[in-house]
Amino acid sequence: MRLWTSSILGSDTQLNQGSYYEASVQRPTGVAPLQGGVEADVLVVGAGFAGLSAAIELAQRGYRVVVLEADCACAGASGRNGGQAIVGVASGQGLLESQLGRSDARRIWDMSLEAIDLIDERITRFAIACDRVHGYLYVADSPRKARALALELETIRRDYGLSCEFSEGSAVQACIRSPRYCAAGFENRSGHLHPLKYGLGLLAAARSLGVQVFEQSAVSGLQRGAKLVATTGGGSVTAGFAVLAGNCMLGELGPRVAPEIRPRIMPVGTYIVATRPMDADLCARLVPSDAAVCDNNFALDYFRFSADRRMLFGGRVSYTTMTPRSLQAAMRRRMVAVFPQLADVPIEFVWGGFVDISMNRAPDFGRLGNNIYYLQGFSGHGVALTGLAGRVVAEAVAGQSERLDVFARIRHRRFPGGSLLRTPSLALAMAWQQLRDFF
Ligand SMILES: Cc1cc2nc3c(=O)[nH]c(=O)nc-3n(C[C@H](O)[C@H](O)[C@H](O)COP(=O)(O)OP(=O)(O)OC[C@H]3O[C@@H](n4cnc5c(N)ncnc54)[C@H](O)[C@@H]3O)c2cc1C
Repeated sequence: MRLWTSSILGSDTQLNQGSYYEASVQRPTGVAPLQGGVEADVLVVGAGFAGLSAAIELAQRGYRVVVLEADCACAGASGRNGGQAIVGVASGQGLLESQLGRSDARRIWDMSLEAIDLIDERITRFAIACDRVHGYLYVADSPRKARALALELETIRRDYGLSCEFSEGSAVQACIRSPRYCAAGFENRSGHLHPLKYGLGLLAAARSLGVQVFEQSAVSGLQRGAKLVATTGGGSVTAGFAVLAGNCMLGELGPRVAPEIRPRIMPVGTYIVATRPMDADLCARLVPSDAAVCDNNFALDYFRFSADRRMLFGGRVSYTTMTPRSLQAAMRRRMVAVFPQLADVPIEFVWGGFVDISMNRAPDFGRLGNNIYYLQGFSGHGVALTGLAGRVVAEAVAGQSERLDVFARIRHRRFPGGSLLRTPSLALAMAWQQLRDFF
């Protein structure tokens, strides 16, 4: 599972060959690979936020749980993301309303709020120090996008009760000191955290509840039936249920594990740079609320300050799984377009990862047969929603599948093009969208 490090960092990277997050944590020792045969009630594939959350919830309900992780816990998207914990789902509520009706769309909205609360509950219950901050700023960089933002926030306020302060014109400068934006909306439910500290906190919590976690243990085959048998290079796990929480990486190993769900998500590369720590006064001037910030462009910019006052600036997507050329320079240009004040601040880290997008950007949760569950398609909204996903899948394993079934009713389509043409087709379609965004 070297994909994260080998293809995601460009050759122009004479910087730290890892994320700022990895450089700011100490990984636990003693998480060994699987050797030999193990029995469990539930097997979880993938130790990202979704898999670890499912494991915690299952262990809390008394199940014997084994987690198999191909790399290290949270080596995938969960340990390398923007850390922005956002309410709602990436598709927006409109799609859910049109497919499920108002009442079930509302249930999913409420679950997304529960997902935010769940983060805070776990931080408290398991004493996870992960630099948690509340506050979120949605920004728009043109009058057309400002109108779209105003409409979206007004709809969310009216129909879902999320209160949000909207500003336009010169008033925006009080929220964010940037020449780029002409509108901003601030809300306090969403926010941010250090994702790897949080993820390793979940790992410790799961192990403290008796969950057996094996790293460097990629599942290369899953034999189906009343008893499921998962095989790795070093051993096997026999279990009554399985939860597939492998995100895009399951796509790489997917054909033998879950070929049905693989074509419904695509890996999209997205990148982050971290500057050198900055002066506290400068940070407080640029974003006085210390909120996480995100624009409403198709290929969006998302950014925030870390606890040690680095600008963590994300954006610059790649639809081909190839790392863009001159990544660091491109990221710097984007950051300086937002904050010209940072033109001379050195960048110390650059990294990236793959977001699992579904065709309609709605989450894709469900079951295969009677005893295999899957969680995928978080589409860039997984920091918070993965926690809730783990909870609803544990409920389903325990026989209460009502909440999972609401998600399972969302209709998903396969990406066109078959396994060979899927990536080029996506790249073309997305290039067209970005062009529209530009004009
Ligand atoms: C750069 C970046 C920025 C992002 N920013 C944000 C953000 O600010 N806010 C937000 O909400 N979301 C963001 N996201 C998305 C978010 O990180 C994901 O939605 C979320 O982490 C998905 O969690 P997961 O557990 O499903 O997947 P992952 O964290 O990818 O975990 C899946 C795990 O499964 C393992 N695995 C896969 N196949 C196998 C196998 N066969 N056997 C064993 N193990 C396997 C992988 O190694 C991996 O560790 C971002 C993503 C990236 C990459």
